[in-house]
Amino acid sequence: MSDRKKLAGSALGIALLCACTSVFPMGCMTANITDRNMNEVHMYSGENDRQFYDTDSILVVANKKHALPAGYEPGDLVRPQVEMLNECFVRQIASAALEEMFAAAEAEGIHLILGSGYRAESLQRELYDKYTKQYGREVADTISSRPGYSDHQTGLAVDISDHDAKTYLTEEFENTPEGQWLLQHAHEYGFILRYPRGKDAITGYVYEPWHYRYVGTDVANAIYNEGSWLAMEEYCDVEGGTYAN
Ligand SMILES: [Zn+2]
Repeated sequence: MSDRKKLAGSALGIALLCACTSVFPMGCMTANITDRNMNEVHMYSGENDRQFYDTDSILVVANKKHALPAGYEPGDLVRPQVEMLNECFVRQIASAALEEMFAAAEAEGIHLILGSGYRAESLQRELYDKYTKQYGREVADTISSRPGYSDHQTGLAVDISDHDAKTYLTEEFENTPEGQWLLQHAHEYGFILRYPRGKDAITGYVYEPWHYRYVGTDVANAIYNEGSWLAMEEYCDVEGGTYAN
């Protein structure tokens, strides 16, 4: 059960307890109602929740257990008006939030650069095939997503660089002013740290301080969890980790 479910469960339990004591003065009735509702909360699984598998949803999950529909390409890709290392496109809703976030950082003297956005399944296939030929499948799986399984294919994921790209795609990015600013503020613009430290077994990826994913501000605030980032898989209560085979 995720932390969010525990919180939701206990909050619901308390709310029911408070509401019920005035209606049902007998303690046992209160307890039964609370238990029944706690079980309902426990039974919830994101695996049955369509929004996590609907590519129209900003909460669509792409990980090593959940592939996107074959050949999926978002229909509303745009080029964000921000500085870029390479030509990048993301979904419109993420682009607007990204522009707002980059401007807010700039206003505080933090210069962010966009390094990567949407990645097509065909490009992912090229990369994965190249690594597979070079190193074998086992190694290829550790350095590249299989085509169809990449968060970047959703059009909602971005890799962000520091101002001079010295720490781009490295763990040192975390210690730069840019990396620190994102850790503290990305959620305010609807972005989450997609692969938090120590959550490899849940997300299927090692810590990536540069990779952010748009999920909207409500969910981003919940996943930010007052500074202790949850994995998206924990929040959505869906399967993650490594490939099934
Ligand atoms: Zn990335």
